[in-house]
Amino acid sequence: VEQLGKSYRSGGRELPVLQNISFTLNAGDTFAIVGPSGSGKTTLLGLCAGLDAATTGSVELNGIRLERLSEDERAQVRNQHVGFIFQNFQLIPTLTALENVMVPLELRGEKQADKRALELLERVGLHNRHHHYPTQLSGGEQQRVALARAFSNQPKILFADEPTGNLDAETSEKVVNLLFELNREQGTTLVLVTHDLELAGKTQRLIRVKGGQVISDSVMAESGSRL
Ligand code: ATP
Repeated sequence: VEQLGKSYRSGGRELPVLQNISFTLNAGDTFAIVGPSGSGKTTLLGLCAGLDAATTGSVELNGIRLERLSEDERAQVRNQHVGFIFQNFQLIPTLTALENVMVPLELRGEKQADKRALELLERVGLHNRHHHYPTQLSGGEQQRVALARAFSNQPKILFADEPTGNLDAETSEKVVNLLFELNREQGTTLVLVTHDLELAGKTQRLIRVKGGQVISDSVMAESGSRL
């Protein structure tokens, strides 16, 4: 990430949200981005994942410069390399848990999307809920479906926006264990936005954002203290 900036147009005016952000993340490591509400964390995560385009500066993901790509090309890069867990899950309400997980698999042309989706739901402990629609699932269960969907393309990098934000302590622990398991077993780079300092403390590097700028970037004392 180099000299990244983002402004939103609001009421005919430019509202700067991120300014002059630069950092490099090593593949296979775990990172937390923390900061006050409204400081730009979600915006930063979206730019890094290629969900949105920056106003200035550049993001290079796995050797690909995102700002040089069209929206469609960015979507292809996301399908290939990126998993994203949204703050509010963003499951498709008209599809069952199984079908939600099948969507990215089918987009990639996977032949046995249903079988693979079921395996992924099993992995997050939800195989007995696969015919449920999102409204028939608890917040924690929806979060785990979102996790299974994010795992489905075996991403090189997984971005998660407040992955434990809406969960009770027990479910939160399960979700965190799954995230770090993925990092350990498949070498997936983890980038977590969180208000949970205990979770942030489990990552290898902590980036603090305030007022749209990085105010500190530190390697954790217990570097590598993965679960
Ligand atoms: P939180 O911790 O509350 O989720 P955050 O640090 O993730 O906050 P962002 O969601 O990135 O913050 O928002 C940063 C700023 O950008 C906020 O002031 C927000 O109001 C503004 N903002 C975000 N999205 C848009 C948008 N689409 N249009 C205009 N302003 C926006």
